[in-house]
Amino acid sequence: MSRPADEVLITTCPRDCYDSCGMRVLKRDGAVVAVRGDPQHPVSRGTLCGKCSTAYNREWRDPARRLTQPLRRVAPKAAASGAMPPFEPVSWEQAIGDIAARLDAIVSTHGPQAILNAHYTGTISLLAGIAPMRFFNRLGATEVTPDTICNMAGHVALRYLYGTSLDGFDPRTAAHAACILVWGANPHASAPHAHEHWLPEAPGKVIVVDPVRTPTAAQADLHLQPFPGSDAALAFALLHVMQRDGLIDEAFVAAHVKGWEELAPRVAALDLAALGAATGVPRASIERAAHWYAPGPSLLWLGQGLQRQISGGNVMRACAMLPALSGNLCKPGAGLLYLNGNLAQRHLDEAYLSGARLASAPLPAVSHMDFANVLEDPRRARALFVWNMNPLASCPQQARLRRALEREDLFTVALELFPTDTTELADYVLPAASFLEFDDLIAPYFNLALSAQVRAMAPLGAALPNLEIFRRLGRAMGFAEREFLESDREILDRLLERSGLDETFDSLKQKGTIFVPPEPCVQFADRSFATPSGRIEIASDAAQADGQPRLPQCRSDPRPAGGRLRLLSPADAWLLNTSFGNVGKIKTRLGTASIALNPADGAERGLHEGETARIVNACGSLDLKVTMWDGLPRGVALVHKGRWLGSEPGHANVNVLNPGVKSDMGESTAVHSVEVTVARAAS
Ligand code: SF4
Repeated sequence: MSRPADEVLITTCPRDCYDSCGMRVLKRDGAVVAVRGDPQHPVSRGTLCGKCSTAYNREWRDPARRLTQPLRRVAPKAAASGAMPPFEPVSWEQAIGDIAARLDAIVSTHGPQAILNAHYTGTISLLAGIAPMRFFNRLGATEVTPDTICNMAGHVALRYLYGTSLDGFDPRTAAHAACILVWGANPHASAPHAHEHWLPEAPGKVIVVDPVRTPTAAQADLHLQPFPGSDAALAFALLHVMQRDGLIDEAFVAAHVKGWEELAPRVAALDLAALGAATGVPRASIERAAHWYAPGPSLLWLGQGLQRQISGGNVMRACAMLPALSGNLCKPGAGLLYLNGNLAQRHLDEAYLSGARLASAPLPAVSHMDFANVLEDPRRARALFVWNMNPLASCPQQARLRRALEREDLFTVALELFPTDTTELADYVLPAASFLEFDDLIAPYFNLALSAQVRAMAPLGAALPNLEIFRRLGRAMGFAEREFLESDREILDRLLERSGLDETFDSLKQKGTIFVPPEPCVQFADRSFATPSGRIEIASDAAQADGQPRLPQCRSDPRPAGGRLRLLSPADAWLLNTSFGNVGKIKTRLGTASIALNPADGAERGLHEGETARIVNACGSLDLKVTMWDGLPRGVALVHKGRWLGSEPGHANVNVLNPGVKSDMGESTAVHSVEVTVARAAS
């Protein structure tokens, strides 16, 4: 029997996940021997999700699997294969000096805007996730707008209504909720502990709206299963019932909502039977949901998957009217949540953290939907920085993006923990330290908490924390501002000192996680909304000025025609975006990539369980194993996202089928509106 740990550290999972689990790192003789869930943490309660408990105890701490030294390309990119990439190890001095010289030359000849900065949420901790923007703000590089790959349409839509998309309800108030409506989120995969604890323990009814019968939908009191793209019509159907049955909170609306009088006649004129047919949701279920939700107090959780549609912005505007018109706001157990991402709510100074003052002008920006297009143009893109993401596996237009990354005249620098599909095509690969190897702070985007990420071991090999890499690079480029001189610890201490939270990093380390505020709080308690009118704007002049309809529209996307299916590509419970796609045990568990079809759709195409189908559209094709599942509506196919290309037989994942069409707002992804044909693959 092994000896017990002689040291236990409390830290926090920094993955792009609603849960932000507390963890215990067990050490023996100074070495980390296990990473577990913290039994004292209110979310994890002693258990991590399967993917993290697998990976953090294997690949994450394995120097043979991690990148441990800077690598410089020594062979043409076109020669890159799934085998050993053509790199040679170099010292940090060589790497930093060479990269700085190359960037200087590009700035002189093409301007800083020819340097692209692509990053996302590979880690959500503050120093590793936000503070590197100090370098890019100072440089003036073009930012590939991070949220356009994920949730930008929802942000734009909610800002029209509420003036904010980042100040959601406090999940602790679920104790007061008579109903929780989860719409287009996928907690089983994306918030596993909310699925396992928060929802089942909530005293109220749980309604899930999802085209897929996810495990969360299956355990709900009521599951509404609309056809993808019909969510706005379903929201209007609920409003129609609420209006018909006297469930509109007229007093709240009169005091705090702008535009109901414009919309009300349109809602009254709707035909509930027609809306039921358009959405595929039975009329009785629509009426039951309205009657459970509207009297309240009720919480509405709007998921990010909901708005990854061609009409995702309108969908979010339509759904977000529900709390405003039913008066499910400004009281305990009521509210709506998209993301709790406002650092100021936790008294943290994001502008200081990101070095906003260093930007001499607003950064040039490009949508992820245009990323491949820009990257293949030598006049617009001379260099690319990739950090906290693996774009070749996660971005649209995968084949085109690969060709762009293969440009020999594109100077690509990638910061990573592991060799990935993207690093394979980089000129420099810089080894990043894992969350176990440096101190940081985490502001979870579901619970109103602030957590410490604590250094439990030295970085493997020569790996460095993200921010240290950019600090060294900035200094090598002659950036002399104080932001390039401050140490990590100085930044953490300053952030906490300015917060007024009466915590130092050392005191937070001891506690692991604190709540801010300590007691549950009511969303919009002061009944003030940061819109031009100060009211919740159903009718939005700002939207109209942006070329959007003044009012949310009751509409559904056209159903796929010509034998096509609408392809959904949600998260797998064993992957997180593309994180963990290289973990051996997880790859074994995932098995062969598959497409799920409604059995009737499979039969119509002469397909059988287990055989290979070819999935095709104008963007690409993919061969996948067929599984039949009656948890999907007719006309809908499902392929999980996040697999690494190098592990797949065709060196492609589901994003090879995503043409990068933009949603109606924010130049954001419409990945759940992709349509495909599915047929038996030629043998
Ligand atoms: S990915 Fe999410 S559920 Fe898994 S350990 Fe991290 S925070 Fe917890």
